[in-house]
Amino acid sequence: MSATKRDYYEILGVARGASEEEIRRSYRRLARQYHPDVNKETDAEARFKEINEAYEVLIDTSKRSAYDRFGHAAMSGAGAGPGYGPFDSMSSIFDAFVTGAARGARPAPTRGSHLAYRLALDFEEAIFGAEKELEISHLEVCDTCGGVGAAPGTQPVTCVNCAGTGEVRRVQQSIFGQFVSLMPCERCGGDGQVISSPCEKCKGAGRVRANKRLRVNIPAGVDEHQQIRLAGEGDWGPKGTPPGDLYIELAIRPHRFFRRQGYDLWMELPINIAQAALGAEIQVPTVAGGTVPLKIPAGTQHDKVIRIREQGVPHLRGAGRGDQLVRVKLQVPTALSDHQRELLAELAESFGEEPPPGARDDEKGFFERIRDKLSG
Ligand SMILES: [Zn+2]
Ligand SMILES: [Zn+2]
Repeated sequence: MSATKRDYYEILGVARGASEEEIRRSYRRLARQYHPDVNKETDAEARFKEINEAYEVLIDTSKRSAYDRFGHAAMSGAGAGPGYGPFDSMSSIFDAFVTGAARGARPAPTRGSHLAYRLALDFEEAIFGAEKELEISHLEVCDTCGGVGAAPGTQPVTCVNCAGTGEVRRVQQSIFGQFVSLMPCERCGGDGQVISSPCEKCKGAGRVRANKRLRVNIPAGVDEHQQIRLAGEGDWGPKGTPPGDLYIELAIRPHRFFRRQGYDLWMELPINIAQAALGAEIQVPTVAGGTVPLKIPAGTQHDKVIRIREQGVPHLRGAGRGDQLVRVKLQVPTALSDHQRELLAELAESFGEEPPPGARDDEKGFFERIRDKLSG
């Protein structure tokens, strides 16, 4: 992947020494141009993801300096990958909020909100992967005004209250003397611009709520606590700022008889006392839908676990699969035919009062303790 990766500066079309504002401006222009909602060319989605990835790195001071020094090698695992990456927790979302809010000089958000969507998956879909279609409700760029918020043919004008700076100086007197503080301009809300004739469709917000269908590839091996991030599929930001991301949380339906533990699958297999004592070969189901023969060795005890290699969950990263673990459940018969009762009675007679052959030492102790009690 890294061999074919393009340079982040080249992707955004900015110089290596570009300012934060230049990066942001170029990103907005390209994101609007290549967003799959707008651009129907086949490579638009790939370009859009590439643009988002580049922006996320270059707009973050620490990520950018790491990238400048080490290139793409510095970014492996951190939001890279083909547009999505399962996240271990919500912390990455909160990080994005915190850095976004702390960096800007103005309190206004610099991008749209991240959204969360809970997607129900069948047990097998999480194991083998799936392509799912989902419908979300999110804020999109208003196509009437292009996100500016001004009615077509009009332009936002510079705010006269703050002269376009978005801030006003407030002089206050106190017992320590006079001090000056900078406050966000109330007239323009800190934007520095005022819309005198708002767009009718979006009422000047630049965004409208819309439903949207998305196709999501669920990679094989995902588990309940993981998330899939779709970059740029959240709410578009106010005043034409870039969109947030969409986080897909997974709700995996339980299976009839498999239970998952990491990459291993557990199941219980009921066997009868003859199979346990004499050994047997039993066809057991696999999660893929087929069966495999399982050898029960002679003398198998209740609760014994037998491992079937490579029939578990495919590893999310890299090759190979987990195992299928079969826990043997010894069933004592309750409804016997006359013939079966005779056979068991004969067996009981042959055992006598001795513990069954092959019983462990501690079980012998148990039988001896009972005999001691009965005799004395
Ligand atoms: Zn509009
Ligand atoms: Zn103002």
